[in-house]
Amino acid sequence: MINKIPPKKSLGQNFLIDENIISRIVRSASLTKDDTVVEIGPGQGALTRELTEKAGSVIAIELDERLAARLSETLSGPANLQVVSGDALTFPYESLPGKFKVVANLPYYISTPIITRLLKARDKISSMILMLQKEVAARLTASPGGRDYGYMSVMVQFHAEAGMLFLVPKQAFTPVPKVDSAVVRLDLRDVPEGVSDPVFFEKVVGASFSKKRKMLKNSLKNSDVIPPDRFDFLMERFFASGIDPSRRAETLSLSEFVLMTKILFENRGL
Ligand code: SAM
Repeated sequence: MINKIPPKKSLGQNFLIDENIISRIVRSASLTKDDTVVEIGPGQGALTRELTEKAGSVIAIELDERLAARLSETLSGPANLQVVSGDALTFPYESLPGKFKVVANLPYYISTPIITRLLKARDKISSMILMLQKEVAARLTASPGGRDYGYMSVMVQFHAEAGMLFLVPKQAFTPVPKVDSAVVRLDLRDVPEGVSDPVFFEKVVGASFSKKRKMLKNSLKNSDVIPPDRFDFLMERFFASGIDPSRRAETLSLSEFVLMTKILFENRGL
């Protein structure tokens, strides 16, 4: 029996056992037979079975070789399932032929690096349904001004429309984890107008949040997104554009970060 493989805590192995939650996650992806799904961390296949029934094809990437080897066998080898025994952080998503959807109950110990990696492959992805630790889900979907809003909120919302779908209690898993979970939906969208260099945008957001709860002007001073000799001029430009540099990064909306990036990009001192 599959349960004979003891779970590895170090790989974030908390397996879903609640059939209602499993169906709800899969339903949230609105799959058709035209869809290719990439599942990260299929584990014992709790989601995988239903994904193969609803989608055209499923690529399931599992780091634990014991589970990867078992997966096709456990699910009695659906023809549209490809199990990849490997690391989701280094998988070459860009080389997949068409667009795909991501559905995953992520390993929580690396959920942020995985999301960051997936956003790099954004052109290949149409949507993601992700189960995350509740606090991380709250951060990804937070609005400006709240205590959950930060660097990851801005970066994720730059690439995708992010929505909280539902909470999942600890009891839906075995072994029972220490934290509660939540499922989010990310619909990838066009890069906001006015940003000609997304990497520069990332740098501006990173510099803005580099000093916790400090005024924007203090976080940006001596950062590599502002030429020192233009600092005062640029702070005035921000002010004139409706962004008071005495505000904290935590209060800025996505469109204000976009505007700030545009001003800095035009004055980046090349
Ligand atoms: N999808 C299953 C479920 O819902 O029951 C398992 C989810 S469990 C939270 C996370 C899974 O991700 C585990 O099977 C774990 O082995 C796998 N995993 C951990 N790190 C990984 C990585 N870097 N790449 C791919 N899979 C990974």
